[in-house]
Amino acid sequence: MTVAGGRARGRREVSAAAAAAIALVTMVAAVLVAGCGDGGEQDLAPTLRVRRPFQPEPLKPGPVLAIGDVRALSPDVQAALAPGSDYQAAPTPHGNDWLITNNEPGQTFAQWERGGFHRPDDRRRVLYLLPIGELPAARTPPLEDLAAVVYAYFQLEVRVLPAAELAAVGATTRTNRSSGKPQVLAPDVLRWLKLHVPDDAYALMAVTMADLYPDPAWNFVYGLATFSERVGVQSFARYDPDFYGEPRPPDWRRTLARRSAQVLIHEIGHMFGLYHCIHWSCVMAGANHQAEFDAHPLHVCPVDLRKLWAAIGFDVASREAALAAAWTRLDVPDEAAWASRRAERLRAAAVPR
Ligand SMILES: [Zn+2]
Ligand SMILES: [Zn+2]
Repeated sequence: MTVAGGRARGRREVSAAAAAAIALVTMVAAVLVAGCGDGGEQDLAPTLRVRRPFQPEPLKPGPVLAIGDVRALSPDVQAALAPGSDYQAAPTPHGNDWLITNNEPGQTFAQWERGGFHRPDDRRRVLYLLPIGELPAARTPPLEDLAAVVYAYFQLEVRVLPAAELAAVGATTRTNRSSGKPQVLAPDVLRWLKLHVPDDAYALMAVTMADLYPDPAWNFVYGLATFSERVGVQSFARYDPDFYGEPRPPDWRRTLARRSAQVLIHEIGHMFGLYHCIHWSCVMAGANHQAEFDAHPLHVCPVDLRKLWAAIGFDVASREAALAAAWTRLDVPDEAAWASRRAERLRAAAVPR
């Protein structure tokens, strides 16, 4: 991945093949684990065959049709889902971008609805954040501010649990060959998390400073979540340039906050049954390298907003207003401005004419 300043160039195709393999497994095996190649690159794995580069065809059935028929919805929800200037078209993939090397079909609203994924109900509607190991304040974003973003984003109660010891998880570890630093096998963490999901949890999301890898063939992964088992994990380790021995630019804490929130939302989005997005520029899009990852917005596109709205049933204008405040608190000004504009527009759309 390009974060490392060109480190390990030439491995990306193999990485992409592994990502595609995981993506394929998720589609065929009724979605066990959402393989987030978002940032994943792997060590050399000669047993993996490189897939022929995938040339995406024009989108079918098309980004707008993917939203579905909205005519029966209330005016404010229709306004929220209108494919207007608030939303950008998905960029045309090139080079080593995710969709060049991963033949992902995307997921229309209708496909999501037919998927029968979990939705919060009266019994399970709390999003839990669980720190695993120490989260040093000097190297991690404020967890309370991230929790505020998650609360605004999904409009569900968020509770931060007392930290668990990394040793208690009992996950497989290794020393990464590129970084020389210790890593933890993310699927082992997910297995442990499944045993500790609180009764009233919609989902249990772990956050850790431990660097993660999803499979022995991979170099690392930012995060990993399940579609159906309501657990996920994300690492903050690689958002800090110091991880790579590089100097921290003056605005590195803002970058740290933004990337942390991006992965957190993306992984929790998977736990609502959202596949990687191909329809629009969207937080749910896959990413193969840092530049592609950083180019994604932190908001969901209208297709994925409709899924979240159908699953949760929030007020679309209140959600944007809450997000504007939460993004400001976390110091993500562009998303705060976007959400603030949207809140005004959606409030106006809700007023009967
Ligand atoms: Zn993902
Ligand atoms: Zn989307």
